[in-house]
Amino acid sequence: MSDYSHILAAIDFAESSALILDKARDIALRNNAKLSLIHVVEYLPPLDSAYEPILVSNWAIDEKELLERGQHSLEHISKTFKLDEIKNDVELKAQLGIPKNEICDYAREQNCDLIVMGSHGRHGIKLLLGSTANAVLHEMPCDILAVKIEDKT
Ligand code: AMP
Repeated sequence: MSDYSHILAAIDFAESSALILDKARDIALRNNAKLSLIHVVEYLPPLDSAYEPILVSNWAIDEKELLERGQHSLEHISKTFKLDEIKNDVELKAQLGIPKNEICDYAREQNCDLIVMGSHGRHGIKLLLGSTANAVLHEMPCDILAVKIEDKT
């Protein structure tokens, strides 16, 4: 019997993403599991007023374009890591929002039973767990594999 049936890898495209993807791919192959990759595109529209925050009217960022770029990057990394060798399905998901929320929502909706993520990511916080990893670990009932990321600083 397999331990896991649907594995979610959280990819922020930091250098450490290679390590996370290697582990997730390996576990997916050994468990004959489905593998999903999620990348959350973070952006905050500027606010016009400190007292009554309203969105700047000429805010020009195209959300569709941001998502397309995220999706394209996921497709690129999935080719690099030969994810097509996973016979039991691979899904690539680019999503706008706050990483911890989107990772948890996706994992819940898709019934993921293992989340593979870095112990900390791009921000290189010198804590055992970064804020995203910590939030996901505390919120989700499924197993979390926090891949230990070495601090180079
Ligand atoms: P952090 O806790 O924010 O330092 O990041 C820890 C891990 O959370 C990273 O190694 C990624 O696996 C995941 N993560 C952080 N930000 C994102 C993001 N924007 N999209 C997907 N995964 C993310």
